[in-house]
Amino acid sequence: MSVSVDLAGKAAIVTGASRGIGREIALALAEAGAAVLCAATNEALLAETVKAITDKGGKAQAVKADVALAADAEKLAAAALAAWGRIDILVNNAGITRDNLLLRMKEEEWDQVLAVNLKGCFNCTKAVVRPMMKQRAGKIINLSSVIGLTGNPGQANYAASKAGIIALTQSAAKEFGSRNLQINAIAPGFITTDMTAALGDDVKTKMLANIPLGRLGTPRDVANAVLFLASGMSDYVTGQVIVVDGGMVM
Ligand code: NAD
Repeated sequence: MSVSVDLAGKAAIVTGASRGIGREIALALAEAGAAVLCAATNEALLAETVKAITDKGGKAQAVKADVALAADAEKLAAAALAAWGRIDILVNNAGITRDNLLLRMKEEEWDQVLAVNLKGCFNCTKAVVRPMMKQRAGKIINLSSVIGLTGNPGQANYAASKAGIIALTQSAAKEFGSRNLQINAIAPGFITTDMTAALGDDVKTKMLANIPLGRLGTPRDVANAVLFLASGMSDYVTGQVIVVDGGMVM
């Protein structure tokens, strides 16, 4: 028996959808039948994501937005409501790194990462919960990281933002559970994208030695977890962190 995720008639917003994991999530949701509002700061790349979806007969729109700005988050929600009259799924995927050892970390490196990764997640969540509450249904999926569970030298800002996303997820899950909103996080391990391409081969070899499943993750591995959390199959799951890391952190 094969079970496929059916999101026909659902409307989704995916932030950071111009490349990497966000792009793959947008494609996966569209393949499952959802209309997808693709948001990011890079308009040219965003247009490519939308084209990849519409070329296959899917529904998608691009909106340029900086999730660190509350007004831009509101713009995303308004655009989805104008296009499809509903918001069923929000994937808070936009994220950045500004790595540096704590002693050398500049205030702006701390501020930028917290503003995009953590405040961005807050801004977009706040912008969609009203329409979701009216619908008495909604799925919010936040991209954390295994670094938010373990910490990492050189990534105090990133780790703090990703740990903060878990606490935000759990708090929101408690606040909106009675309205039938499921709010969960995904903590990917080492996924091959532009974000991780900058790491040296020595770092990658070391990582591989600690991954029981013996390979690095792909954006599709993460998108598959999103499909589960976006679908009715996760209707009794909220406030959880699904770790998608090949067994690296356990
Ligand atoms: P990426 O750098 O390839 O893509 C990031 C996306 O976010 C891009 O589309 C970019 O335009 C967008 N973005 C950046 N700043 C933004 C802003 N202010 N407003 C709106 N959009 C913005 O990154 P990725 O590797 O695909 O990672 C996606 C998410 O997954 C991030 O939250 C990241 O922290 C998380 N993650 C990645 C890995 C990994 O190994 N790649 C591991 C754990 C968690």
